[in-house]
Order: sequence, then C-alpha cells, then structure tokens
Amino acid sequence: MSKRFEGKTVLITGASSGIGRSTAFEFARSCPKNLKLVLTARRIDSLKQVASEINKEVGDGVRVLPVQLDVSKADEVRNFVGQLPDEFKEVDVLVNNAGLVKGVAKAPEIAEEDVDVMFATNVTGLINMTQAILPSMLKRNNGDGSGDIINIGSIAGREPYIGGSIYCATKAAVRSFTESLRKELIAKRIRVIAIDPGQVETEFSLVRFGGNKSKADAVYAGCEPLTPDDIAETIVFAAGRRENVVIADTLIFPNHQA
Ligand code: NDP
Repeated sequence: MSKRFEGKTVLITGASSGIGRSTAFEFARSCPKNLKLVLTARRIDSLKQVASEINKEVGDGVRVLPVQLDVSKADEVRNFVGQLPDEFKEVDVLVNNAGLVKGVAKAPEIAEEDVDVMFATNVTGLINMTQAILPSMLKRNNGDGSGDIINIGSIAGREPYIGGSIYCATKAAVRSFTESLRKELIAKRIRVIAIDPGQVETEFSLVRFGGNKSKADAVYAGCEPLTPDDIAETIVFAAGRRENVVIADTLIFPNHQA
C-alpha cells in the first residue's frame, strides 16, 4: 500500500478496457483510502462498470468519476477539463493510455480513415490531454509545478514492423513528444514518464482486426503475451517513486517476444 497517492487525483484515458482498466484497479489497490480516480473513454457503460467493480473490491475510500470522452476531439477535451468537479480538478497523475491500431497493411493500402483515426487518437489525443492538464500542474508550488505525466507508447515506436507503418509512426511520435516534454519540464517538479509495452493481451488486437476474434487471437500464436496487470504494475511503480526519482523510459515486453 502506497501513502504517496493519498489525497491524490489520478486521471486515466482509455480506462474502459485493457491496460487503462487494469491501471485504475492497480492505483485503487495500492491506495484504497483517500484516492480519486477520473476514468475516461468513449464507452461510458464500461467505465461505470469498472468504477463499480473497483468500489466493490476496495470500498468507498476510492472515489471514482467515470467520464465519457473522446481524446481526439480537442474541444471535448477542453470542456471536460473545464467542467471537472472541484474535488477532481487538480490532477496529480495523468496516464495518457488511450490508443488503437487499425488493420495490418502495407503503406499504399492503408485506408485514409484508418490513418486519420490512428494519428487523431494516439498522437493528437495524447497531446490534447497533455495541453489541457499541464497548465494546472505548472501553477502548483508557486510555479515550480507538481505532477506526473505517464505516456503509453509502444515497442512499435522503437522497432517498426512491416504492415504497421502508420501505427509505428504514431508511437514514434509519442516517444518523441514525451522526450521533448520531459526536457522542457526538467527544471519543474513534474515528471514525464514513457512506458513502451510489447505484446499485451487486451482488446487491442480485436480492435485492430475490426472485431475478428480468430485474426485477433492469431497475433499471440507462439508468444505468451504480457497481461494488462504487468503494465499497470509498472505504471503504478513509476508513479510511486519518491519525487526526485524519474523512471523516464521503460521498454517492457514478454520474454518470448522477438
Ligand atoms: P484496449 O483496446 O483494451 O484499450 C484501448 C483503450 O483506449 C480503450 O479503453 C478505448 O476505450 C480507448 N480509446 C480508444 N480510442 C479512444 C478515443 N478516441 N478516445 C478515448 N479513448 C479511446 O487496448 P490496450 O489496453 O492494449 O491499449 C492501451 C494502450 O497501450 C494503447 O495506447 C496501445 O497503443 C498501447 N499498447 C498496447 C499494446 C498491446 O499489445 N496491447 C502494445 C503496446 C502498446 P473506448 O473504446 O471506450 O473509447
């Protein structure tokens, strides 16, 4: 149990499934008293379900606010931040996790709408959230700032693969943005943390193949993927370090992944 999160507000994007959902549970388990969680995604029913399961498991010491939000829409993101209830307004930890991949195809065959949705979600969405939350982090401690921004990239941002040119490009952009931001904020008390997972078994693969389960399952053939909890534990560990310790850049993948 970590005292570091007591009284803190943690905002997680893409908390309706997979890594984001597990991360919400992991924060709640690590600080079941006096923690506030803001959980966002497009599927509000799933978020409400996550919220009720968390309270069922850890009790009411964790206050959970599920909010429907499409990170790719800058106006929606700004309004959402402006309308957060007072007790959730000061976000201490932002986990920029929402993301997706569409299809596997060589570059000339990738549909324009798939290119747009991957960049709008993985890159613009992450920037929208950061720009909306960072100003309030910067104001704290008389301008020295306070807070953590944790960006979920991917091994794909470091090791591009055939058939994934757009997704890999989005995650390379996330990596570059994260590194620049960390340098920009180096004199502040705001930590910027990159976590780049390898294969993790979530709905990610199902989304990639438009809901085709056999294609989605085939991705994991011959490799035992990580679980979303493996990434959630890493996120909470990084956020739980004392203020002067930055776990700046983590690559975490299954032992079997080539
Ligand atoms: P999931 O598909 O289970 O989760 C993705 C989450 O992102 C969902 O909660 C989804 O919610 C949300 N999301 C997608 N688009 C939007 C949007 N426009 N606005 C708000 N939320 C959105 O997959 P993972 O948990 O695996 O993915 C989480 C992150 O991990 C992603 O950034 C992904 O790129 C990254 N990653 C995953 C890997 C893997 O192998 N699984 C490997 C490396 C990185 P909803 O549909 O309700 O909006």
